[in-house]
Amino acid sequence: MEALVIHAAGDLRVENLPTPELGAGQLRVRVRCGGICGSDLHYYQHGGFGTIRVKEPMVLGHEVAGVIEAVGAGVSGFAPGERIAVSPSQPCGLCRYCQQGLQNHCLDMRYYGSAMRTPHVQGAFRQEIVVETHQAHRLAASVSDGEGAMAEPLAVALHAVRRAGSLLGKRVLVTGCGPIGALVIVAARRAGATHIVATDVSAHTLGKALKVGADEAINVAEEPEGLARFMADKGQFDVLFEASGNERALRGALDALRPRGIIVQVGLGGEMTLPVNTIVAKEFDLRGAFRFHEEFATAVELLNKGLVDVKPLISATLSYRDSARAFALAADRSQAMKVLLNFD
Ligand SMILES: [Zn+2]
Ligand SMILES: [Zn+2]
Repeated sequence: MEALVIHAAGDLRVENLPTPELGAGQLRVRVRCGGICGSDLHYYQHGGFGTIRVKEPMVLGHEVAGVIEAVGAGVSGFAPGERIAVSPSQPCGLCRYCQQGLQNHCLDMRYYGSAMRTPHVQGAFRQEIVVETHQAHRLAASVSDGEGAMAEPLAVALHAVRRAGSLLGKRVLVTGCGPIGALVIVAARRAGATHIVATDVSAHTLGKALKVGADEAINVAEEPEGLARFMADKGQFDVLFEASGNERALRGALDALRPRGIIVQVGLGGEMTLPVNTIVAKEFDLRGAFRFHEEFATAVELLNKGLVDVKPLISATLSYRDSARAFALAADRSQAMKVLLNFD
């Protein structure tokens, strides 16, 4: 079976790996579709991000859907032929954070396609993978493999929305509308936000933001003062989701956020300098949002019931053998949101 293995920046190879062995309680899955995530792009373009570096060959990918090929001894509730989305999250279940229901903070997390620990956790851009049953979430016939692969970023967005608390009747600003920002719009709308404004620097991206439910889109490259009209009375927004990881986006939004407003930082931005006086004087809540846990099941259920539509965010599906073209397209914000790899 073949897999997409990153060796160093710009060095992504199709390699033959042994077909994984199926153990008791596990499922062997024929991977059909995988979404290229920002982290995959970082490994591909820069060999990592921040202090995290690819130190050994690693299969990329953590957003996949596929079909069950075989079930291990003792498995009940799953059968060959069923289509599933695979959660890439493998918390230990035993540590103090797992015991507290904070699995995304697990002390022994193994997350697909991540070089955070060494040996690296091998990813899911491969033709076959063996998963635990708790990672498998059945897809309805109405949900395509590509939409199933979107369950992971949707789960990230759902977790970010959960971090904000109730959004019912709230006015929401989303800065940065790549796949995660756009899915935050989807999730915030589902959670009852009444007015959602999106900002970005790409016209293509903002067009997609409107398509998935933003009420207004502001191109802050063309209109740097575009948020000024929301600054009256100390700010109009109740909640800011910052999904760009860009310091200027966060700073520029603070005057449009009302006192006691909530900032959910979901974009990873490295280091930023922030006006702490503003955060203090306006009594903002500054909250991080990192990965997800139970939100993966919620994401699949919302997809299965047709309660969210992620199709407008799927830009293209290319063969994994064409990975250079697929990764280049995924990096081009002027024409792509989510690019999917086909593993058939
Ligand atoms: Zn992802
Ligand atoms: Zn744990």
